[in-house]
Amino acid sequence: MSPSKCPHCKGEIKLETVQRETKGVGFIKQEIMYSCPHCGSVLGFSRGKFMS
Ligand SMILES: [Zn+2]
Repeated sequence: MSPSKCPHCKGEIKLETVQRETKGVGFIKQEIMYSCPHCGSVLGFSRGKFMS
């Protein structure tokens, strides 16, 4: 997987550095919110795997 760039600050987003915040409890309604480590902008949501 290649690194992507933040649409807001053009910072490089890597799987190792992306900010993750898990929403929801348990496995029924769990979402992972990804945000830019540079500017904190929300990049998107995912259920389960990272931007697969
Ligand atoms: Zn950014």
